[in-house]
Amino acid sequence: MKKYLLLVTTVLAISLLAGCTSKQEKAETQMKDFISAYETKVIPLYKEAALASWNANITGTDEDWAKSEKASFELTKIYTDSSTFNQLKKLKEGGLVKDSLLARQLDLIYNFYLGGQVDPDLLAEQIRMETEISKKYSNFRANLNGKELSDNQIEEILKNSKISSDLQSAWEAHKMIGPVVADDIIRLVKHRNLIARKTGFSNYHEMTLKLSGQDPAEVTQIFDELDDLTRESFAGLKGDIDAFFAKKYNLGITELKPWHYQNRFFQEAPEIYPVDFDKYYENQDPVKLAANFYAGIGLNVDAILAKSDLYEKPGKNQHAFSTDIDRSGDVRTLDNVKPDSYWMNTMLHELGHGVYSYYNDKSLPFTLRDAAHSFTTEAIANLFGRFATDPAWMNEMGLIDKDESEKIMPAGKNALRLQMLVFSRWAQVMYRFEKSMYEDPDQDLNRQWWNMVEKYQLLNKPEGRNMPDWATKIHVALYPCYYHNYLLGEMLASQWYYYITTNIAKSRSFVGEKAVGDYLKYKVFMPGTRYYWNDMIEKSTGEKLTAKYYAKQFVE
Ligand SMILES: [Zn+2]
Repeated sequence: MKKYLLLVTTVLAISLLAGCTSKQEKAETQMKDFISAYETKVIPLYKEAALASWNANITGTDEDWAKSEKASFELTKIYTDSSTFNQLKKLKEGGLVKDSLLARQLDLIYNFYLGGQVDPDLLAEQIRMETEISKKYSNFRANLNGKELSDNQIEEILKNSKISSDLQSAWEAHKMIGPVVADDIIRLVKHRNLIARKTGFSNYHEMTLKLSGQDPAEVTQIFDELDDLTRESFAGLKGDIDAFFAKKYNLGITELKPWHYQNRFFQEAPEIYPVDFDKYYENQDPVKLAANFYAGIGLNVDAILAKSDLYEKPGKNQHAFSTDIDRSGDVRTLDNVKPDSYWMNTMLHELGHGVYSYYNDKSLPFTLRDAAHSFTTEAIANLFGRFATDPAWMNEMGLIDKDESEKIMPAGKNALRLQMLVFSRWAQVMYRFEKSMYEDPDQDLNRQWWNMVEKYQLLNKPEGRNMPDWATKIHVALYPCYYHNYLLGEMLASQWYYYITTNIAKSRSFVGEKAVGDYLKYKVFMPGTRYYWNDMIEKSTGEKLTAKYYAKQFVE
């Protein structure tokens, strides 16, 4: 009897398992079919959009920009298809796609489509509102004693004037963009929240992060950790900065106001440790230096450079970026190289993005041949970009001798430390303000902004000030819920830097160390986006993303 029962249970279990397997097989076959149809549609449009954008950025002609706009519209249109979305939704909710590569693609593609399911009328309204606001920012000129000044001219005054009242007037004149756009931005924030709720999220901030594969609670926890680790050290440095400016402007420390820090937002380090890095690059070729450095660590960039557009031209985009045209080896970077430290940093940075794309794993499906997250490729770019002003790297690359390297080392280190700490406190303000604004757009935003600025940047609010100063930062309106990624990228750059210098490289500047290239190829570039970003970080460093190493590098 016992034996018989056992037999029955075994048979039952086997048939259940078979039923389960066949259901799973069916779902996975459906997913495979879906992916092959999806790739047939998407790959050519992706490539066309990438090429059209590349051409438009180089020629700058209306005709090329129109082509680029059309190509990217055709690509995004794919994701608005609701019957395809419902097909994916069924597969996802069924939970039967278990093969790890298929399941990962399902998650990613599902999110692309979810983002595309916004009511077209609501989306059109959002774009209309954004365009209006964008025009207001572009047309605004600060009015200073009857003269109209651009943002750059305001920055010039804040950086160079020694007269406190001039600084105040320039800062206040710039802040007059706030009342021009504030009400429009609040309306836009509410509209974005409406879209988010209709898509199943509690607000737009949550939606943006989750669709990009980030959990807001996880990001907040990392920001809290960094806040704890940097607070004291930043307060110490802020004391040095205050002492420097009190002396410079002949004021008491308590009399220092937000206009005394050489920048509209105190987002960049004031120049209190001057080292002129440009002079070391005057007779150098940043492209050649970067190519030699990358070849030395076993990441050849010749194929990327051959397709790139490196120097200034009329009509061309004046900034820099890197682009992966087809995820099959056509990787390019656009630059406007000049022989100075800024462009040395930028070449190392853009080629960092470049090698991340170029050395992807061609055996992975198209969707997974991408960076784990936009901030992980930013981290690789930053990791290498930082070397441009690292005296040890400059020495090993033969730009300066050992004596010079040691001479400028302390000031170089202080300047970088100041830059990183100042930026990290500013990014705290941006992340927390945006999160709070989308959670409750009806709150007293003027007050909330200054609460954040006082808490994280330790600036003194001008007495009685009640103005929408939060609206003067264009990112709040037009590049929403993205700023935190810049700081996550810096943190991860530090984490990799420590992992590599402890476990992989003998020298702190990686020069000539092929093991560094191998490590990055196999642990970071080739896995692409097959793992959740924090799993990839754990697999490559033994730890999840942590602020520890950023603190170790920049906090004393
Ligand atoms: Zn970048």
